[in-house]
Amino acid sequence: MIIELKSTITAENAENLAIESKAFHIKYNDKRYLIAGSGVKEVPANLIDFAHNHWVFSNDLQLASSKFLPTKREVKIGNVTIGGDTKNTVIIGGPCSVESEEQIVTSAKFIKSLGLNLLRGGCYKPRTSPYSFQGLGLDGLKLLAKMRDDYGLTVITEARDATHIQEIIEYSDVIQVGAKAMYDQGILRACAKTQKPVLIKRGFGTTLQEFVQAAEFVLAGGNPNVILCERGIRTFETGTRFTLDLCGVSWLKEHTNLPIILDPSHAMGYAYGVADLARACVAMGIDGLLIEAHPDPSVAKSDASQQLNHDQFETLISSLKPVASSVGYNII
Ligand code: PEP
Ligand code: MN
Repeated sequence: MIIELKSTITAENAENLAIESKAFHIKYNDKRYLIAGSGVKEVPANLIDFAHNHWVFSNDLQLASSKFLPTKREVKIGNVTIGGDTKNTVIIGGPCSVESEEQIVTSAKFIKSLGLNLLRGGCYKPRTSPYSFQGLGLDGLKLLAKMRDDYGLTVITEARDATHIQEIIEYSDVIQVGAKAMYDQGILRACAKTQKPVLIKRGFGTTLQEFVQAAEFVLAGGNPNVILCERGIRTFETGTRFTLDLCGVSWLKEHTNLPIILDPSHAMGYAYGVADLARACVAMGIDGLLIEAHPDPSVAKSDASQQLNHDQFETLISSLKPVASSVGYNII
């Protein structure tokens, strides 16, 4: 249940009421606080005098639920805003991994030249094999921060585990929680303590409910700036790397209030399918698209088979614009 407290309730009162009720207290807007707890169907007696409004849920999809907030949350990412009434589809482009200064400078200049705003690049890579390239770590984060300073781009990079989450929060404008890290409570709890936007990728073996519950950890802990990212789930099909769950995206649009970004690159696993999938995603009316692009994918140190080269990426972005406008969205 979520209880919206009366506007006369101060932060301290809200905290005490939450402790008494073994629940979370969350700043809702400038004036009001919420108490969110589980399994309660009626406003508890000790809270009746303080409650202004309340919502009852049949499961723990609460703060992220469209029952609680029927309009989509707005999230500011650097200079751009997604969600709310914006009808913006933001493009996140760049390589799978930051590999060298030359590679990320070429990528940053390219993203900038297309008039786009968001540059991605992994520095702590959650690889399936310990023998593969693991990322440049802190050196990579510093390179990304330099791209922000030199080219005015907003940068996004992923947290692999909780050991370096504070570094990611310090250097990155958007914190990406990878599909394999989606269950990492250390990451989720640290993300709750910042106000930076957090992009949570769906674990490839998780249900939609489990996915959104990961987002609830961040929301309940005090960070309202959460974005969901569908990046493909594992099915019986082996011809493609994963299966992009577009039905799931419709479910998320209906049942949650969070902006949704789609990642066709990791779902497909092969560059040849990425453009078709990206257009299908944009046609659904979505808040963003994450596409991997590398100056020379043949030498990429991770996800080489799925990254687009810069010509392919540029052609794709031009082809997305009419698709987005046909459903009332703008590519930014
Ligand atoms: C990535 O974005 O490069 C990545 C590793 O993605 P995912 O966590 O979805 O596998
Ligand atoms: Mn990748």
